[in-house]
Amino acid sequence: MNVPVTSKIALTGGLDFWHTQPVAETGLPSVMLTDGPHGVRMQPEGGDHVGLGESVPATCFPPAVGLASTWSRDIVQRVGVALGEETKGLGVGVLLGPGANIKRDPRCGRNFEYFSEDPYVTGELATAFVNGVQSQGVGTSLKHFAANNQETDRLRRDSQIDERTLREIYLSPFAKVVRSAQPWTIMCSYNKLNGVQVSEHRWLLTDVLRGEWGFEGLVVSDWGAVWDRVAALQAGLDLEMPAHPFHERAVVAAYEAGRIDEQTIDTAYTRVERVLRRAADTLADAPKGFDVDGHHALARQAAEQAIVLLSNDGLLPLDASARVAVIGEFARTPRYQGAGSSRVNPTRLDNALDAINALTEQEVAFAPGFTTRPGQTLDGDPVADALAIARDADVVLMFLGLGENHESEGYDRDTLDLPAEQVALLDAVCEVNSDVVVVLSNGSSVLLPFAGRVRAIVEGWLLGQAGGPALADVLFGVVNPSGKLTETIPHRLEDVPSYVNFPGDATGVRYGEGLFVGYRGYDATRRDVAYPFGHGLSYTTFGYAGVSATAHGDDVTVSVTVTNTGERAGREVVQVYVGKPESEFVRVPRELKGFADVVLEPGASETLTIEVPASELAVWSVRDGAWVVEGGDYVVEVGASSRDLRGVASVTLAGDVPARPLTLASTMGEAMAVPAFAAHLRTLLAGSPLGSMAGDDSLGTDMERMMADFPLAGLAGFSGQDPAAFQQLLDAVNAERGLGGR
Ligand code: BGC
Repeated sequence: MNVPVTSKIALTGGLDFWHTQPVAETGLPSVMLTDGPHGVRMQPEGGDHVGLGESVPATCFPPAVGLASTWSRDIVQRVGVALGEETKGLGVGVLLGPGANIKRDPRCGRNFEYFSEDPYVTGELATAFVNGVQSQGVGTSLKHFAANNQETDRLRRDSQIDERTLREIYLSPFAKVVRSAQPWTIMCSYNKLNGVQVSEHRWLLTDVLRGEWGFEGLVVSDWGAVWDRVAALQAGLDLEMPAHPFHERAVVAAYEAGRIDEQTIDTAYTRVERVLRRAADTLADAPKGFDVDGHHALARQAAEQAIVLLSNDGLLPLDASARVAVIGEFARTPRYQGAGSSRVNPTRLDNALDAINALTEQEVAFAPGFTTRPGQTLDGDPVADALAIARDADVVLMFLGLGENHESEGYDRDTLDLPAEQVALLDAVCEVNSDVVVVLSNGSSVLLPFAGRVRAIVEGWLLGQAGGPALADVLFGVVNPSGKLTETIPHRLEDVPSYVNFPGDATGVRYGEGLFVGYRGYDATRRDVAYPFGHGLSYTTFGYAGVSATAHGDDVTVSVTVTNTGERAGREVVQVYVGKPESEFVRVPRELKGFADVVLEPGASETLTIEVPASELAVWSVRDGAWVVEGGDYVVEVGASSRDLRGVASVTLAGDVPARPLTLASTMGEAMAVPAFAAHLRTLLAGSPLGSMAGDDSLGTDMERMMADFPLAGLAGFSGQDPAAFQQLLDAVNAERGLGGR
């Protein structure tokens, strides 16, 4: 079928806010793309990308902040499958998620939509998510590609990142998802990257994404991210959303004027057509609707595994006979998802207060204590009411958190504090009752200066529509908590590694902390934190034994035996961190390179085997322009958190750093490490003042240490030698080592 170029151009832009254009000549129907990520936000009429308009009811699963805390590929994949079923059942072809951006700074208003400050866990869980959704014959949109780690000025800000940091921290989760799950679409982000608008970034959208990673799907713009569609198409963007008739006309005009060739248009058209055809085929005979109750139950199960018990002096779990006072509006009106484009209209909404009432033998007293929305007021004296019920109770459950206006897509926070009125209320409650448990609802870390004054803290993040009963189950021990942090909770905002560089200014945002993001930074500076990355308690205890690490080539197999040493069944998330203390590269002390979860009955043990492929150990060598595995000794730590390491092993790898030919820019130290060089040098320098150096391989004296960092070009001059003679020597040495070139 011959499709006219104007129809091809039309398919590379939207029809309206959520739909693509149909192609009459081929019978391709219009296909709907919809947010995402943790529920289907299908707007039957019109559209907006900030979640203001109504959407049809769909299950609101825990947002990524909650899903990530499960550290469970299995539950994330199952949620993905359910999301795929809903996407299909609602007649949508592509779900716009997951978000794989790194939580560089806890102030980012959209952190609730992202998995972690760590690229490994982000990549693993986003892969599970994509595999789950796409198993249903509909697509995902891995977003926001790339380096979009803040909301402030998000459409223009230039993320300025060195290449190693960009690749190892910010791109690596995207690379993993592309390679192992082939998302049907990738959404390019709004921002600039190192001076170039991402929607026009050829290196990112074509050279890296397709050339290096083998991406086969289509690149869609974030809604409104395209400034110049001709430049965007030429860079590798395939589909602009939403519709922009002026941009469409501009492409037609550019084509007619010969400023864009048909090949470029064909390429984008073919990619778009291929993806949409798959979606249309699925939707053509997909049954309508989905299993509302089944998905609600799954949302609850995911929420149960997401809850993180931060501290507990033994007060939890509560007994059903306890006289409980519940304080805080969040118990009655849950904060269960974030604000902005991801906001889902849930099929049901269960709160914690009702669930607590159902679990206790005594009547539960409740006082809202504060409001969660600006402009709301409470009758009477909310503080006095809260204190009155607190005085009378065995235990006070205080539901604190951030309201929707505190964190949202579109803007960042400027503080990590909980609202002052909530903290003041907590202080007052602690004066009248010493048995206080804090239950938190928040999309990103908050400071917890009161941790020493309360008996337990339960981090509930945002848990989706069934989070309330999941929290009640954890509080009363129906569920043994097993979630763990995928972001560090610091003591102070000023401790955050990106503190001084976030969110930058009109000239850009410098990722000045480099590789030292999150726990990588806190560990490198040995900074005390409130709760470390990977932390989360249980009502049982786990013993770790027999940690070992074995190399097969440069792949590493880690093994550990975990035993439930307590009295309740429980799930433990076991984490593997790898470091390399001796290195030619700047290194962070340890990096997460593997994890697994295990469910154990009391007294039961299981030996876990966790594979760390060599590719996970590779670093981006700027000098070689390549990923390399450095040879030498690696330290493998296995633990219950990044700061609760229970066993250590070491492993020696051969590595694959390419041997580098010596040049006049090589230093004396580098050259002397090559035995063939030292032997030749002796002859060359004989009789010159530097001759003594050539006889000593160790370069041990002060003078020699100083000279070790001196490039050979300079030494040639000092020794009165002709640089050409030096070069001849280097050529000979390089040839002996089988290395050509300079
Ligand atoms: C958001 C995307 C979203 C899109 C459509 C944008 O503002 O950044 O994540 O998918 O709107 O709603």
